[in-house]
Amino acid sequence: MKKVYLDNASTTAIRPEVIQEMTKVLIEDYGNPSSTHSLGRTAKNILELSRKSIAKNLNATAQEIIFTSCGTEANNWILRSAVKDLKVKRIITSKIEHHAVLYTALALEKEYGIQVDYVAIKSNGQIDITDLVELLSQEKKTLVSLMHVNNEIGTVLDLERISRICQEHSALFHSDTVQSVGKTTIDLQKLSVDFIVASAHKFHGPKGAGFAFIRKNSGLQPLFFGGEQEKGLRAGTEALHQIAGMAKALELSYSNLETERNHIFELRNYLITQLELEFPAFEINGSVDGFYTVLNVLLPFSADKTAMILFHLDMKGIEVSRGSACQSGSIKPSHVLAEMLSIEDLKKPSLRISFSHFNTKEDIDVLIAALKTI
Ligand code: PLP
Repeated sequence: MKKVYLDNASTTAIRPEVIQEMTKVLIEDYGNPSSTHSLGRTAKNILELSRKSIAKNLNATAQEIIFTSCGTEANNWILRSAVKDLKVKRIITSKIEHHAVLYTALALEKEYGIQVDYVAIKSNGQIDITDLVELLSQEKKTLVSLMHVNNEIGTVLDLERISRICQEHSALFHSDTVQSVGKTTIDLQKLSVDFIVASAHKFHGPKGAGFAFIRKNSGLQPLFFGGEQEKGLRAGTEALHQIAGMAKALELSYSNLETERNHIFELRNYLITQLELEFPAFEINGSVDGFYTVLNVLLPFSADKTAMILFHLDMKGIEVSRGSACQSGSIKPSHVLAEMLSIEDLKKPSLRISFSHFNTKEDIDVLIAALKTI
């Protein structure tokens, strides 16, 4: 049975060139980057070239890129050190962030007694900027943490505008850019964002590798203590093959951005057209002009179809998600959709369909045909 993988916001298939790069490093370059002998120096060289390449793709300096094990770790580190070391007394975030941010903010509220405020969300899933400005008028050392592209509904935050607002109010700004790095241009010289994070497995790199952009002189302190890796900011022997794979994946994502984006954009439009044709009463959760890699739809099926729809599609070899991956299989509704939909609509089946350049029109046809049999 041919598999139709339409769950690319959960994770992506590794590019063959990335596997090649990682295999080479695993076989030939197994030295520890902290060793002073020749194998170690080669490893160190690969590490720093990877850092340089990632920094170049985002227009940052190499010293501002710190490797981590994943996006979750990078988010946890930044929020925790902002409170512990930068003396942030309040975090402004939103109820539709990824749990890596939401649960960290809640833990910090408990541990440090900081204030956590949530910006209002409009019915289309956009942040209410007027509310953000109002919240920022309180005098308190603040970190704003708002994601760039929402992983469930694909709403896009205007990074430039929000970073300007934060700067005007002397607030630090962290953005979870896990869904957007490698999929849209991010120019860190132009933006005044203080911290962003990324995860390699979201842009056709390996799982277990990510990075944080930490703007120069931020004063952030480490989460882990041990060796002097990453200038003392992230102790632990670097996963060199993962990091080299991540750098290769990002380089390929940006060098192919234009063509791959156009291809995915067309697929998303084709899916919308097919849904309009076959299920005219369907609705888009979020908005039609959301990010090109994600489409979250509320299907005009009765609520009793909700529990079996993913299972039914899975039996036909079609992989999509309900809400976010962490919640598939659980009966809890998505915390993001819960902020936007009525109780009645929440009970009905919503699907998150997320694309990559590996998808084809045929994949969409297979999905539509399967939905017609439900
Ligand atoms: N932030 C967002 C927006 C995500 O979509 C994800 C992954 O689902 C994460 C953070 C967590 O990233 P990782 O899997 O690298 O821990």
